[in-house]
Amino acid sequence: MADLERLRDGLWLLDTRQFGIPRYGGVYILRQGDAAALVETGTSLAAPLVLEGLEELGIARDAVELIFLTHIHLDHGGGAGELVRELPAARVVAHERGAGHLVDPTRLLSSVREAVGEKFPLYGTARPIPPERIEPVGGERTFRLGGLEVVAIPSPGHAPHHLCFFVPRTGELFTGDAAGLYLGGGLYPTTPPPSFDLERSLETLERLAAMGPKVLLYTHFGPGGGAGELLGRYGELLRWWTGKVASALESSGAGTAALEALLADPEVLRCAHRGDRDRAELRMNIRGVLGYLARREG
Ligand SMILES: [Zn+2]
Repeated sequence: MADLERLRDGLWLLDTRQFGIPRYGGVYILRQGDAAALVETGTSLAAPLVLEGLEELGIARDAVELIFLTHIHLDHGGGAGELVRELPAARVVAHERGAGHLVDPTRLLSSVREAVGEKFPLYGTARPIPPERIEPVGGERTFRLGGLEVVAIPSPGHAPHHLCFFVPRTGELFTGDAAGLYLGGGLYPTTPPPSFDLERSLETLERLAAMGPKVLLYTHFGPGGGAGELLGRYGELLRWWTGKVASALESSGAGTAALEALLADPEVLRCAHRGDRDRAELRMNIRGVLGYLARREG
């Protein structure tokens, strides 16, 4: 049995148990009339679960018209190559700056391997997606699923090729990683290399808040109400987090020393969520901010 939670009529959240952790990585299944869509796919390892979930919901494979990817990081879109083979009508919606990596994932895979080291097997793999199955998005663009409008919103900051997806009729906003991680009711920063950018993140958060969403649907993990407040709080968290890394860098003078100092700081350790057992994500998030600070100086 797939681990499916019904959020409303026509919207489900599938827990992919990413990295073996419950309620950490999700895939949303949307149905409107005879048409269905996915938001995110999880890693390629989650593809069989997604197919199982569709079957349990009685959604035919050829009813899935769209696969919305917030970005191409493997925990969000790694399974898309696998799924387009099984879902014959599905087109993959992704930012045009990420589309090339979906067609040829070689560089993406090698950069993930470099970033995550021995954890790489947990990220699965990525099969190439034929270019004609991809809908590249450059600016805001509205898609139709049955009678439902879904608007792709460019939302750089976590990555330059990030998109959020907004459903005006319901006020639902699929945030990917643009609004942080929301795990067990707590917000956590996600600021990975190579392209985390504070200013662009803050601009994105303001743009998203201005749309007046009612509920945020986090990939990590699930719905968060009080959407405006959550977006504002994440902006504050990012400012604090970037400032924390900047002052460690200033007092220790070098990135590696700053990293070690931060990993010994109890306030910083509170930014590691329960899924980050060996602090690998925390390190990655610190390195992402260090990279941003270096680019800002340079
Ligand atoms: Zn993610």
